[in-house]
Amino acid sequence: MANLFERLQTCFPADRSRPFATLPDGAILSYGDLEARSGQFANLLGQLGVARGDRVAVQTPKSIDMLMLYLACLRTGAVFLPLNPAYTAGELDYFMRDAEPALFVCDPAQAETIRPLAEAAGVARVETLGAHGDGTLTLAARDISPAFATLDVADDDLAAILYTSGTTGRSKGAMLSHGNLASNCFTLRDYWQFTAEDVLLHALPIFHTHGLFVATNVTLAAGAALIFQPGFDANAVLDALPRATVLMGVPTFYIRLIKEDRFTRALVAHMRLFVSGSAPLSADIHREFSERTGHAILERYGMTETNMNTSNPYEGDRIAGTVGVPLPGVSIRIADTETGAVLPQDEIGVIEIQGPNVFQGYWRMPEKTAAEFHDGYFISGDLGFIDRRGYVSIVGRAKDLIISGGYNIYPAEVETALDELPQVRESAVVGVPHPDLGEGVVGVVVPVHADFADAAALTTQLADTLARFKQPRRIVFVDELPKNGMGKVQKTVLREQLADSFK
Ligand code: ATP
Ligand code: MG
Repeated sequence: MANLFERLQTCFPADRSRPFATLPDGAILSYGDLEARSGQFANLLGQLGVARGDRVAVQTPKSIDMLMLYLACLRTGAVFLPLNPAYTAGELDYFMRDAEPALFVCDPAQAETIRPLAEAAGVARVETLGAHGDGTLTLAARDISPAFATLDVADDDLAAILYTSGTTGRSKGAMLSHGNLASNCFTLRDYWQFTAEDVLLHALPIFHTHGLFVATNVTLAAGAALIFQPGFDANAVLDALPRATVLMGVPTFYIRLIKEDRFTRALVAHMRLFVSGSAPLSADIHREFSERTGHAILERYGMTETNMNTSNPYEGDRIAGTVGVPLPGVSIRIADTETGAVLPQDEIGVIEIQGPNVFQGYWRMPEKTAAEFHDGYFISGDLGFIDRRGYVSIVGRAKDLIISGGYNIYPAEVETALDELPQVRESAVVGVPHPDLGEGVVGVVVPVHADFADAAALTTQLADTLARFKQPRRIVFVDELPKNGMGKVQKTVLREQLADSFK
């Protein structure tokens, strides 16, 4: 039995009237409803001519029906391919031509824009699915039989293609198999001790690995429940926290929550777990959160291509500024960026990953795929090191490494030093062209108090923690860092904006 849906089904509560999701309007979708609804969508996919291995591209607002369509794809052997609703027409054209979906599912409000695009790109069929039970696909599924025999698949048959976030360049389609997804969700369920009693507050998008696979599959694998919210809204999260046991978020969630007066120790005393990932959580925010709530955020590290790789322990030290230890079954090593030699403890190099979680390759990019593997290990593109206790720390992406005056400067080290200053809420550090040094270090700082803009005061304090060559030559102050929907700082945007800093 290799179909992920069937494997998850064996973990569903025996009493199928138990809730799977509490929806934004308060309605409850039970496990029985989930089986019926995903069965209806699965039957409909068959009627629409979607065959095993066909891609079903889905660009809709977050909704429970979108999640049911994901499960339907698993059940039919089709390949679920979610797309960020923020993508523009030009980007969609690329995704449509690259993925060649048999079916494109969009927001009813976007149908008029999407149809001509789809036609031009050779996509045969467009259907709609709205956030409120509306849309052609949703309505058609309503009158169809819920009974569906889930298809048998092989472990390495594709379950989904997820495009990477496009933080460092054009998004690549990562091919994930039933086996990849299953291995990771069962590992995480056990590692994070999920049980049927858990209620996960789900405020993440579901076009990305974090909200789709980590949050959803782990919940299903535990027979647990979700509080399903359309997106992150601090007030809605604060309202729902008393009914939740786990929150999964990107660092931005935690940065925003600690700004709220209502976010108190008492409000979250009953919580079992706060998880953070997708972007670095500063050690400073980790500490502030602990002081405020008594909870240590559990930070983990993953990527679209691999699902989750490392996690801070559930029991044991959750060390701020680290992403924890390799998950059971996952092997991590650090390699020299130039020679590929495996490096010893504490030395910085590129993080390489091997395990049942590692993807099947980039969609229709065999050469790129081959280039990203090194003796069976996937080359993550992230730089990091492993310490004496086996904890992995990320020091930035290989593409963000700054080389100034011949010295390597790791942005994360400078960011950590800046974040620790009392005047600094958040920071990002980039290298931009410098006439003498090659690249010069620029610090972009969000101050704690909006009117603070004293760069010299920050530089003076950095003198104690950072060697002169690592200190930013220029510091600029901003209200907010440019971030995408996953809370990732868009360093390419910063580099462009600051390109003339030293000219
Ligand atoms: P692209 O590959 O298209 O440039 P991306 O790498 O941002 O985009 P994702 O797969 O969404 O796309 O993100 C994975 C990356 O996110 C990791 O390679 C890593 O750089 C970063 N990341 C994830 N979790 C953490 C974490 N806990 N700490 C630091 N970085 C993290
Ligand atoms: Mg990436």
